[in-house]
Amino acid sequence: MESISEVMRVLEEHYKDERRTSLNRMREHRDPFRVLIGCLVSINIKDEVCDEILGVLFSKVSGFQDVIDMDILELEEILWNARYRRIKAARLKEVSREVLERFDGGVPDSADELLSIKGIGPKTCNIVLSFAFDKPVIPVDSNTIRIVGRLGWMRDVGVTGGGDVGDGKALGKGGGKAREVERVLVSGLEDDQIRNANALFMLHGRECCVPIGPFCSRCPVAEGCEKRGVERGR
Ligand code: SF4
Repeated sequence: MESISEVMRVLEEHYKDERRTSLNRMREHRDPFRVLIGCLVSINIKDEVCDEILGVLFSKVSGFQDVIDMDILELEEILWNARYRRIKAARLKEVSREVLERFDGGVPDSADELLSIKGIGPKTCNIVLSFAFDKPVIPVDSNTIRIVGRLGWMRDVGVTGGGDVGDGKALGKGGGKAREVERVLVSGLEDDQIRNANALFMLHGRECCVPIGPFCSRCPVAEGCEKRGVERGR
């Protein structure tokens, strides 16, 4: 089997001209407020929808106090085509209040502090640490877990018959599976690859290694892939 690092180099080359996801583009400016709010908004919605929502939202708010002050109905209206918009609007306000009250409005840069905020889970925590503070961590989502499992880098990541895993199940209880996948990836990658890993898994999971019927015939890393759990590749 090719090493994890070699496979990731092939993906880097293959996707070097592709448009990065909304959150990954936030690396360019590294505003912790925007990264945290953007991440909470982006959960379970498409990138185009997320871009549109964040464009409107960030034209009206530039700090946590603005989010708290915004009328909840206006916030829900801005999130109108996001899934679970009422829950998300409430969570944006709760997290903003906690960051303001407990951390004086500054997003903390440690995992322990971030995870102590209600509404922030392991994936959001790592997105903030990586994209806002450039820490060597990898945000792991269902895309990452599915691809890592199919490639055969981990034996026990629960790739289902069709190769699909839902978001809820994918991260494992308390994010345990996500942490294990992250540990395997971090130990096999160079520093620059760790920073790029999330973007590559997002792109590969969207363009090629899709949940059902992955496009193995045109996959750039097919040679080194065990295709574990893939019953009907295309
Ligand atoms: S060969 Fe198929 S299963 Fe393996 S990474 Fe590529 S698309 Fe996914």
